[in-house]
Amino acid sequence: MDYEGRIGRLRESLAGAGVEALLVTNLTNVRYLCGFSGSNGQLLVSSTATTFFTDGRYRARAADLVQGADVVVYDANLHESLAPALASAGTSTVGIEAATMPVAQRDHLDGKLEGVDLVATKSLVEELRRRKEPEEVSLLREAIRIGDEAFNWALDRLGPGRTEREIALELEVEMRRRGADSVSFEPIVGSGPLSAHIHHTPSDRELAAGDLVLLDFGARWQGYCSDLTRTVVLGPASDHQRDVYAIVLAAQAAGIDAVAPGKSGVECDAAARHVVDDAGYGETFGHGLGHGVGLDIHEAPRLHKTSEDTLVVADVVTVEPGIYVSGSGGVRIEDCVLVTEDGSEVLGKAPKESLIEL
Ligand code: ZN
Ligand code: ZN
Repeated sequence: MDYEGRIGRLRESLAGAGVEALLVTNLTNVRYLCGFSGSNGQLLVSSTATTFFTDGRYRARAADLVQGADVVVYDANLHESLAPALASAGTSTVGIEAATMPVAQRDHLDGKLEGVDLVATKSLVEELRRRKEPEEVSLLREAIRIGDEAFNWALDRLGPGRTEREIALELEVEMRRRGADSVSFEPIVGSGPLSAHIHHTPSDRELAAGDLVLLDFGARWQGYCSDLTRTVVLGPASDHQRDVYAIVLAAQAAGIDAVAPGKSGVECDAAARHVVDDAGYGETFGHGLGHGVGLDIHEAPRLHKTSEDTLVVADVVTVEPGIYVSGSGGVRIEDCVLVTEDGSEVLGKAPKESLIEL
């Protein structure tokens, strides 16, 4: 990973944010900038120094993982070590990550760090994380491959009498068996009318003939997340189920076609939503078209009617339109898509050409 390049790009953004240094407390951002993964770590990036702080539990792990930063282990409180580090860097205006630092921690540091101004900053590291390096794209491809394989494996496990919870558990076990660090989020398995719940929690409902079954899940591979949704039907599909599936598939194709450098999140969302609207199901598509994926399952940019983002080369986003008919069922189709110089590349290979009948 190009930690040096990442730190360099972050340094270039400090002045624009009105700060001399950034205290990175978001653990995903810490991992992105220096390689540390664990439950406690902070990174101070000033114009001249990069210092990683943690507590004694992580002494050995930090020595193994942290790259491009001095490691400081404190006894009890971050401020004990942070104050001298700020003094030696001659830094008094320090950015904090407003989206994730708890108010209590800000107040605590504010009280302990004399002569230091803590300044709220927004998305400095999150913006850097958008442009995936080739090595990151390789890790995402692997996470996606594990998800695709787990889906193909699960097709044989779906049938009348199986419960949503059983299928969700088996998906998780199968992804871990194939090498995943963990799931990238709790798998969603929604069947029959419950497939119309956009973010359903798997229940004890038994799958039954004629059900639509919506599977939304992903694997984490070396920190990187995949996100895949497929919808299948148990037994022969009804004309209505087939029609709805075809509309969602067409909407996804329109969304994927719209993904390209320079396109806004609003435009991409509109391209897919237009197809669903025209078919008369617009009101049921109650979520955005997609989101960035990387070290977090949901990260910048957003593809949404209120998005302020514009796509750049090497963004990786999901494209996931859906139609949800309450009382009968829902269909969503989701893939991860890489933004390329001339458009986009769908990274997943799970089958979707027609509604799979099991
Ligand atoms: Zn998903
Ligand atoms: Zn998603």
